[in-house]
Amino acid sequence: MTNDNQITNTISLEKYGIKNAKVNYQLSPERLHDITIEKGQGVEASSGALAVNTGEFTGRSPKDRFIVEDAITKDKVWWGNINIPFNAAKFDALYDKVANYLSNKEIFVRDCYACADADYKLNIRVVNEYPWSNQFAYNMFLRPTADELKNFEPEWTVINAPGFKANPEVDGTRQHNFAILNFTKKIALIGGTGYTGEIKKGIFSALNFILPVYKNTLPMHCSANVGKEGDTAIFFGLSGTGKTTLSTDPSRSLIGDDEHGWTAENTVFNFEGGCYAKVINLSRDNEPEIYDAIKKGAILENVVLDEKGHVKFEDTSITQNTRVSYPINHIENIQIPSIGKKPKNIFFLTADAFGVLPPISKLTPSQAAYHFISGYTAKVAGTEAGVLEPTPNFSACFGAPFMPLHPTKYAEMLSKKMKDSGVNVWLVNTGWTGGPYGVGTRMKLKYTRAMINAVLNGDLGLYNYDDYHIHSVFGVAQPRECPGVPTSVLSPRSTWNDDEAYYTTAFKLTNAFRENFKKFESYASEEIRRGGPQRYAF
Ligand code: ATP
Ligand code: MN
Repeated sequence: MTNDNQITNTISLEKYGIKNAKVNYQLSPERLHDITIEKGQGVEASSGALAVNTGEFTGRSPKDRFIVEDAITKDKVWWGNINIPFNAAKFDALYDKVANYLSNKEIFVRDCYACADADYKLNIRVVNEYPWSNQFAYNMFLRPTADELKNFEPEWTVINAPGFKANPEVDGTRQHNFAILNFTKKIALIGGTGYTGEIKKGIFSALNFILPVYKNTLPMHCSANVGKEGDTAIFFGLSGTGKTTLSTDPSRSLIGDDEHGWTAENTVFNFEGGCYAKVINLSRDNEPEIYDAIKKGAILENVVLDEKGHVKFEDTSITQNTRVSYPINHIENIQIPSIGKKPKNIFFLTADAFGVLPPISKLTPSQAAYHFISGYTAKVAGTEAGVLEPTPNFSACFGAPFMPLHPTKYAEMLSKKMKDSGVNVWLVNTGWTGGPYGVGTRMKLKYTRAMINAVLNGDLGLYNYDDYHIHSVFGVAQPRECPGVPTSVLSPRSTWNDDEAYYTTAFKLTNAFRENFKKFESYASEEIRRGGPQRYAF
């Protein structure tokens, strides 16, 4: 780990066009914590963590995320409303404006890297307007040793200017905020938003292009951990489905929280050096490891504190997306370095607000490919204006907003890896049971953990026909028994006590699956199409 006392040097930002800046280079997280408080940009919570507000934006803004269309990206990127093209000359002009904006200011610069496997290391220089954003970069990226810093050559640069506002008419943005990736210049340019997630997801998006295109490695929006036998488990899922919660397991070593690569050598490495956990309704009883990670060094975002500085985790008056970032070593049981071997189990997490998917089921290779391309979860009523009933939300590869290539590129890689490694794939519904959102309840975390542990301990083999039931609508293999889980919970239909309502709702969901899959049909093989639900309402 870096001993920050030894770092007395600084760097110049002139070559970035940022003139006459007061550069704070590689400050320790403690210094950044203190400076943030001195500047009135944050306060210390009772746990010792720093608490900040990220401002106007408390989440990512996918409609303002662009990729510069250039010789590298032109024929490779899957252009559309996810990967929105940006003109190269417009980028240069906007870059100059941002550099000019950052000139003559106090700036915070940090050298760090992504990818825990040395063969894939990506050196990054992060240039921040605010001290707490720079501390976020310390928490979330990998931290070079003092030795590694001596000859540090940054490859990618993140320029982060939350206070800068673009003029859409002149600058070619949609509105005043933007996150733009430039693969020729190797720059992520972020302005008009203080949401720190844009910084980490900017580099993630870059790696989601670089690794499959140049390094024959599958990038994944997933968490990962490893058991005592060296068996790696991977958890895919959209936001809020449980990647962070379920991978943080005291009996298994955490590899990483959100972003990983699966190499041609069948190893899995973390891109990051930290975790970025949701803290809505967090309790020490349910999630002690995450709760205890919120101490000095951690940064809480957009939470409300009481007069004693205690976090009111249930308070969503600023946003539902309250967060904490912390270096991975705030978790006790971690894998060092963050690399695992031989993935043995893959979990697709989905928060099904219709309450019709089984809490756990095993997928065939076709079903795995189908569900990976579909990337289903649900939005529940109340979290977004206008959402009045559960709405299916499909996001290819469980992370479409971060995937510059066509989803089938990633799906083909995963299918091949699944076949080569013989990994087991499970669909886990961490969402509703006993009825849809509003009628049923969220699956108990205790039960989800028990089901996952049963898989990981080899207690849910599903090798005998009698061990499972093939779901009549979804076609997936539903276990009949699972240690630590009441049998009735394993069958979603039986938790409803109303067969007709159950099937009507299940067909609503299968129809949504079919509708969504249409855009992939012409790319998908017969084998993958067979992995979809078995029955639809006509
Ligand atoms: P992101 O990609 O945004 O980081 P994530 O997949 O990591 O999202 P988590 O941070 O793990 O999502 O959030 C899952 C949330 O759901 C937590 O607040 C957790 O307490 C809650 N939860 C409730 N029931 C369950 C369950 N059965 N399984 C998993 N999580 C549950
Ligand atoms: Mn997470």
